[in-house]
Amino acid sequence: MADRRIAVIGAGPAGFYSVQALLNAEGIAGVDLFDAVPAPFGLVRYGVAPDHPKTKAVARIFQRLLTDERVRFFGNVTVGRDISRQELLANYDAVIYATGARRDRSLGIPGEDLDGSFGAAEFVSWYSGHPDSTGSMPLAQAQTAVVVGAGNVALDVARILAKDAQELVGTDMPDEVLAELAASSLSDIHVVARGGPRSAKFTKVELREFGELAHADIAVSVADLDAAGTSSEVDSADAEANFRLLSDYSSRSPAGRPRRVHLHFWTRPVVIRGAKGVEEIALSFEPPAGHAKAPSLVDLPAQIAIRAIGYRPDAPAGLPCDPVSGVVPNEAGRVVADGVALPGEYVAGWLKRGPSGVIGTNRSDARETVDRVLEDLPALAERSIRDPQAVVGLLAERGTQIVDATAWARIDLHEQQLGRVRGAATVKERYRGRMVEAALRGDGITAD
Ligand code: NAP
Repeated sequence: MADRRIAVIGAGPAGFYSVQALLNAEGIAGVDLFDAVPAPFGLVRYGVAPDHPKTKAVARIFQRLLTDERVRFFGNVTVGRDISRQELLANYDAVIYATGARRDRSLGIPGEDLDGSFGAAEFVSWYSGHPDSTGSMPLAQAQTAVVVGAGNVALDVARILAKDAQELVGTDMPDEVLAELAASSLSDIHVVARGGPRSAKFTKVELREFGELAHADIAVSVADLDAAGTSSEVDSADAEANFRLLSDYSSRSPAGRPRRVHLHFWTRPVVIRGAKGVEEIALSFEPPAGHAKAPSLVDLPAQIAIRAIGYRPDAPAGLPCDPVSGVVPNEAGRVVADGVALPGEYVAGWLKRGPSGVIGTNRSDARETVDRVLEDLPALAERSIRDPQAVVGLLAERGTQIVDATAWARIDLHEQQLGRVRGAATVKERYRGRMVEAALRGDGITAD
């Protein structure tokens, strides 16, 4: 089985760790890595906050994998549109889907669809310069934003809103996004958590950053901390570390910084109101017994509502998926439909296990999937199409402009040039057309 060829769909962490595991195995002649965006790295490029460059450094490891002669990158190729699932199965011995979770879950409350109400995936895609998210945010007209959720994504969103745009000049944020953040008139950002301080899913490092914001004061109610001290919520070392940080924040006096971040616990939105856009959010405070404050329902004037309540995978068309979670049913990575494993089809990452864990979690996850691929390969019938150029020809016939690793390197260079203008290492190009234009510059990349 020395000439086996595998397709990996999705060039984010799970996709790259799958590529890495495949390259470490014997008998794999080639791995083709597809992504709908004309750039690799997925969540590392479009999900990790721009002011967290250390987390993004893993892209260097992924970039090295692209230079392996057995790997081909097919950027700007959408599975389901440019190439079908059946065509993939006809051209590869196995297909690993690692398309992540880019959809937003919904709160299911009235007013969620008003202008100014966003899911975190939409908002994060916007500030990360995702080419499918080139609209604008109503920051210049807003004084108050409400961020729903107590996970790290809620913290990312609240932190970006709380920072002065000047603090973000050195990041890779597109110029247009930075300009919108510079025009922001926000003064107050409310983060609302339905649980108490001990059940928040924040991690310590991320929560600690809130105490170090130069442009915003942080406000936490002492009564919430007192009640959490006596409530019987889940406890762990992480919860204890969060609790200590929150206690520190609750003891601080406001330093008169231009913005304020308020953390509310046992609070959830029940309705978002407004004529066309968000004007007011009704927040229900439901404290545990023993809390010094009584339950209340407060109408908070606000112009932006962002729900950071977890992402949802969006399974490629034709794959089975759980109607509630969006996860593809699988057995250790083998896609399963009606209790039977589908030959040659696998999943890795958030599509396989749901949107949880850090980037490194995908390494062992991908290895598990690749182990299943390797176990199955001897029994999988060799596909009829053995010509690695067949896929390239198919995409060329359809006029798909493939952005391969060389073309991506040109986009990278273009972004480094944008960075030089702004004094940043790199600045993202947010428009797909301009990315492809930069990819084609020089000797031009075509499908052949
Ligand atoms: P998450 O950690 O699962 O947090 C989701 C939050 O939304 C929880 O507080 C949850 O509350 C709340 N929630 C869910 N449904 C809700 C509802 N209907 N109403 C109100 N609140 C609701 O998800 P995430 O923040 O999207 O993060 C996804 C993963 O990426 C996590 O593993 C996270 O650690 C990771 N991540 C890491 C970093 C980093 O390391 N810097 C940055 C970003 C993301 P309950 O707890 O009550 O369910």
